[in-house]
Amino acid sequence: MTRHTITLIPGDGVGPELSDAMRRVVDATGVDIEWDVHDAGLDVIAEYGEPMPQHVLDSIRKNKVAIKGPITTPVGKGMRSVNVALRRDLDLYSLVRPCKWYPGVRSRYADVDLVIIRENTEDLYAGIEFEEGSEDAARIIDLIGELSGRAIRKDSGISIKPISVFGTERVFRFAFKWAIANGRKKITAVHKANIMKYTDGLWLRVAQHVATEFPQIEFEDRIVDNMCMQLVQKPELYDVMVMPNLYGDILSDLCAGLVGGLGLAPGANMGDEIAVFEATHGSAPKYKGLNKANPMAMMFSGMMMLRHLGELAAADRLENALAWAIASGEAVTYDMKLNRDDPSAVGTSEVADAIVARLAASRAGA
Ligand code: NAD
Repeated sequence: MTRHTITLIPGDGVGPELSDAMRRVVDATGVDIEWDVHDAGLDVIAEYGEPMPQHVLDSIRKNKVAIKGPITTPVGKGMRSVNVALRRDLDLYSLVRPCKWYPGVRSRYADVDLVIIRENTEDLYAGIEFEEGSEDAARIIDLIGELSGRAIRKDSGISIKPISVFGTERVFRFAFKWAIANGRKKITAVHKANIMKYTDGLWLRVAQHVATEFPQIEFEDRIVDNMCMQLVQKPELYDVMVMPNLYGDILSDLCAGLVGGLGLAPGANMGDEIAVFEATHGSAPKYKGLNKANPMAMMFSGMMMLRHLGELAAADRLENALAWAIASGEAVTYDMKLNRDDPSAVGTSEVADAIVARLAASRAGA
């Protein structure tokens, strides 16, 4: 059996509880994993002076595969998001977010099986911003006036939206290869090229070009506003959707909502060599330490990690055990019940207990 060394970052808020639950179920699949655990987030700032200390990044670079719990970004304290920084520092340029419906999930939709692949480093999330009233904002406003002949109001804040040929090409190449490796049939490029000709227009043009290299995958495009309507009306028509950073952030939550909410939505930040798996949701601080939050999004992220490691049978076992827990409705947290006060809801660790028991039984029966 191959031994895998994985960096585990429990995170903060509900992160440590969810990470513990994820680790228990991944171990129960029978794979041989050495967990290289490193703390990061709010709770380590006092000790290291920053939320993502260098030794954590070094561990990810060494092990190449990591899984992390959510990390809080305090609002308005000038601290850059650890999550955004991690993606940038490790050049994790593709964020893969599957949204799959499982029988038993309360949702307006059934049989949804979508994947969003989001460009993770550019666009309006590049973090290049100029504050309203600052000297730099005034200079940019003057320069833009000079170059474009268009006046921007002096009291404007400015955020820059860079989309490059390089960045677009590599995320589409990744997406086509991912689609082929995962048995997918179609890619939809999402954009607003009719309005933003030099950014989204470039995105679409490059996408169409890359698509010609992969004729085995059907290719189409949709304007982002139409895409939103299509997704709520007929999500079954779509397969893998590839989009720039901002649209990807928004549509990921929309698609998570189609299949039962944030408590079930996993993700993988992928670069050429490194992969960091994490749930779509945040640190849900109000539930910290209460054994209440849903660990399934993080467990599904663990399942994606097993597939990435080539542990396909273990990943299938974990997916089946999760599907069983969802379908039976006996080992699910409050957010998966019709009534949030439903006394039959269980806590985070009880979900893990049930899935570990199920995996143990299936291995004993195998
Ligand atoms: P959130 O995802 O933490 O919470 C949104 C809502 O969903 C809340 O009502 C929360 O209680 C609920 N929720 C989230 N996860 C849940 C779970 N597993 N089970 C049950 N309910 C769950 O989003 P937010 O409140 O906008 O963000 C809180 C903090 O998390 C912020 O500091 C934000 O920056 C950070 N964040 C981190 C990541 C990450 O680490 N990748 C992602 C998103 C947000």
